[in-house]
Amino acid sequence: MVHRQNSLESIELNRQRKIAAGLVSECFPEVSDIVIRMTYYQKAVNPVMMVRTMNFWPSQYAYFNIDCMVKGCVDGGFDLTSVIAKMIKNRRKSEKGKLVCKGNSDVLASGHASIDYHITVKYNKL
Ligand SMILES: [Zn+2]
Repeated sequence: MVHRQNSLESIELNRQRKIAAGLVSECFPEVSDIVIRMTYYQKAVNPVMMVRTMNFWPSQYAYFNIDCMVKGCVDGGFDLTSVIAKMIKNRRKSEKGKLVCKGNSDVLASGHASIDYHITVKYNKL
């Protein structure tokens, strides 16, 4: 069985999650800019690869959960929230790593999608 989420419902849920996360300026007042560069991989015969850059400024929501783009993936995605929170706590300027989609599905294998990420954080001058 494939779960199909109503897209409007999913947009509304995303909006609520973002509001709950709070603004970058509220969560991390010392941060002036966060840049996430990621390469998206799909486990398939033809792994569709995508490169994406996301910018987060103080006026934006501190919501760093990136959706999985595989059809039929339920509750999947890549949550960079803890990675970013740890970086800021330790005042790290850049961090590289890899995440595998945590979503479950009856029709998809585990590890059906993954990302390589490179996060850069800029801090306000004291
Ligand atoms: Zn997934």
